[in-house]
Parts: sequence; structure tokens; C-alpha cells
Amino acid sequence: MKRWLRRWLRDPRLAFLTHASLWLRGTLHRGSRYHCPVCGAGLRAFVYKRGLLKTNPDGYCPRCDAKARHRRIWLWLEENTNLLKEELRLLEVAPWWALSRRFQSLPNVRFEGVDRERAGPNVTVVGDLVSLPLEEGSFDAALCIHVLEHVEDDLRALAELHRVVRPGGWALVSVPIRLDRDTHEDPSITDPAERQVAFGERSHVRWYGRDLADRLSAAGFEVELHLASAIPEETCQRFGLRRDENLFFCRKPA
Ligand SMILES: [Zn+2]
Repeated sequence: MKRWLRRWLRDPRLAFLTHASLWLRGTLHRGSRYHCPVCGAGLRAFVYKRGLLKTNPDGYCPRCDAKARHRRIWLWLEENTNLLKEELRLLEVAPWWALSRRFQSLPNVRFEGVDRERAGPNVTVVGDLVSLPLEEGSFDAALCIHVLEHVEDDLRALAELHRVVRPGGWALVSVPIRLDRDTHEDPSITDPAERQVAFGERSHVRWYGRDLADRLSAAGFEVELHLASAIPEETCQRFGLRRDENLFFCRKPA
């Protein structure tokens, strides 16, 4: 899709078009076999990106567009954090439509979404992760979902994430990761086609490995790794989850 057309379609004033197309797709796939925990829809299938009818067992929610990783993260947050229990100032970096809409609907959450451009109604602050225009300690919690692999100076980005979370607060970080090896990065690889081969996508600058935990600790967080392999099989099937969405739960010491 042409860049200008993509930008035009992401104009917040055209959000009603997204609502309408998701309503249509969600209605076509209404059912009871699967469940999307993000929007609460009962579904007969998950679907491919931009697909209307083609189904995919761990694809997008046809009703809210949540990916498998967003369903995994919602379920985990619901079960393991204070997200639904306390007044919370929550920051999402590069907010995803489905998750951020759900956060914005929670009466106990004051939500801010930060991105480099105002790409939709869920972006409330324009800024770069390596230099956030936000006050120190101004959030109880932050989410950074599949962002760091696009950021050249990820250590600076993590320092910023740590800075804006209050002492005693937390951040949830997820990235594409291979836990059987160390991070692979090479700043000399700048060509998008070469990055695709080396790091899995044209806009990725590294492929993280098990040492991500050390980078998070170096930023000042206490780190827990929650493995997707520990999710029961029936949960994976019911909610359309994947086995590679490992989560790093990072607490800023009080
Ligand atoms: Zn959904």
C-alpha cells in the first residue's frame, strides 16, 4: 500500500471505517469455538491479517484485530498484575488498536499511548522512545510490545522506560526472541533486504536472545521471564495463542 494512502487511512477522523470493517468481520466469524479475551468475542475462527474469510488458528481476532501476542498479554496481565484492581497510570509504547482500546475502556486506568506520529486515536503523546517527552516516575506501569527490535539504541530506550515508571511500578516487555542463543545484531547491516535475512523483518535491527534479561537488569529493573511453553495446551487452543510469545516482567525497585 502506498505510504500516503496508509497515512490517510490511519487518520483518527477515519476511525469509524476501522470500526465498521471490524464489526463486519467479527459478525461473519461469530461463534463459540474460540474466545478473544481482549474484546470478549466468541468466535468460530481467527483470521489472517486484512483477511475477511481465510482463517488461521493463531491469527488476528476478526472482531478487534488483536494478534495472538495481544491475547496472551491480556490474559497474563489480568491474572498476574494490578491492571484490573487498582487506579493505574498506564503507558503503552507504539499502542496497538485492540489492546489500547481495551485499556482506555477500563475505569481505573488513565491511559497514554506514545508513538513517533499521531497514528490513531490511541496515540495521545507524540515522541520517540529514546527521548520520551514524559516526566520521571509518571507511570505506574508501561508496556513495550515488539518495539525494541526496531530501535537502534535499545539500551537508551530501556533507560527511558525505566525513568518514566515510578519506583515500585512495572513494565512488560516482549520482543521476537530465541532463548537458545545470544542476541544477534550488526549495525553494519542497514539494507532492509539484508535485515530481513539477518533479523527476520526489514525494519528489525537485531534478533534478541537470552541476554535480553541482562539488558533489562542493566537498565535497573528486577526481571522475571514468563515462558509461553508453560501455557496449558487447552488455553492455547481456546484463545489462539502461540508458543513463542515469552514475556519479560520488569519491576522497578521501590
Ligand atoms: Zn478480539
